[in-house]
Amino acid sequence: MPELPEVETVRKALEKAVINKKIIDIYHGNKGLRFPFPYQFKQRVIGKTILKPRRIGKYCILPLNSKQKILLHLGMSGKVRILDKKPKLGNHDHMLINLEDEIYILLTDPRRFGFVDLIEGKERNNKFIKKLGPEALSSGFTGKYFYSLVKNKERNIKSILLDQSIVAGLGNIYVNEVLFITGISPKRKGKNISLRKCFNLVKNIKALLLSAIKEGGTTIKDHLQPDGKLGYFKIKLRVYGKTKSKCFICGFLIKEIKQLGRTSFYCGKCQS
Ligand SMILES: [Zn+2]
Repeated sequence: MPELPEVETVRKALEKAVINKKIIDIYHGNKGLRFPFPYQFKQRVIGKTILKPRRIGKYCILPLNSKQKILLHLGMSGKVRILDKKPKLGNHDHMLINLEDEIYILLTDPRRFGFVDLIEGKERNNKFIKKLGPEALSSGFTGKYFYSLVKNKERNIKSILLDQSIVAGLGNIYVNEVLFITGISPKRKGKNISLRKCFNLVKNIKALLLSAIKEGGTTIKDHLQPDGKLGYFKIKLRVYGKTKSKCFICGFLIKEIKQLGRTSFYCGKCQS
């Protein structure tokens, strides 16, 4: 599932391929993904040039020279491929952008939880962007800020970290990992987490995301060849998906529970 580091990897790959390229044509399916494709999407962006791709949380933004911006969210299973010839579209290929110089950007999304929007006007007024809290790697996401939001919350820390209006960019994998690294149980209520723990948590979140981006960055070349596929790199997972494996710190077996329909993995001894 694409989280902040995976989306950043996609953004970097797109930056190399699409910057200053003109949009020649767009195909998209009629069914839409999580939401329908933007109204008259093709007519509105054809002939425009893509500027430097950016990222906010799990959103990739392709600014155009017209001040419009294409907003891309990869949902649960979205993948972007950059190709040098027109592909034959499969069942799960939902959008194909044809750029000048025979460059094709293909969006594939089997589970169709991703979506595409077109921003006209101010980005921060966009209905998706305006709901986002500070981006996990930004200077606005600090231990003090995080503590001010969790200290009165009855909700568990797992759901707080997944809430994009509190911090943008984290998903189930990195939340499981960072709670393990910080020694906090996913069941712990927000109000029971100290300021000191909040500082540690924020520090560990940033370090984990940066190291994952770095790892993605080192394999980025492979993503573009031979078929242009942008894969997701394997991070070294400590607890995610490790049910009944031994905790590598204490040797206890890793437990698995469901929280809000998402699986949590944790060590009952190292995390409290
Ligand atoms: Zn342990």
